[in-house]
Amino acid sequence: MTVGGVSTPFAVILVVFGALAGAVIGSFGGVVRSRGWRGALHGRSRCEACGRELRWFELVPLLSYAVQSGRCRTCGAVIGAAALLAEAAGAAVGAAAALAGIALSGR
Ligand SMILES: [Zn+2]
Repeated sequence: MTVGGVSTPFAVILVVFGALAGAVIGSFGGVVRSRGWRGALHGRSRCEACGRELRWFELVPLLSYAVQSGRCRTCGAVIGAAALLAEAAGAAVGAAAALAGIALSGR
């Protein structure tokens, strides 16, 4: 069975990767928006409430939000619902782009 011009399992993988890439880009976009390009490229992410530097595993788009319920592990403050939205929007765009690519490849 094929979707567009590729086999179904491959199509699923493409969409998942598209969504993940979109989430990362969306996450980065959210950081750029809140801290500017310099801050996004050089600074580490911090909890805005207690100032603790966030570890890499607390910055995995969507996943870390799900694990920690979007809260800082130290002070319990809610970290960026806006960031989650940016990640979700990026994931949707990435998945849509992958789907569009698959559909076009079938022509
Ligand atoms: Zn905190």
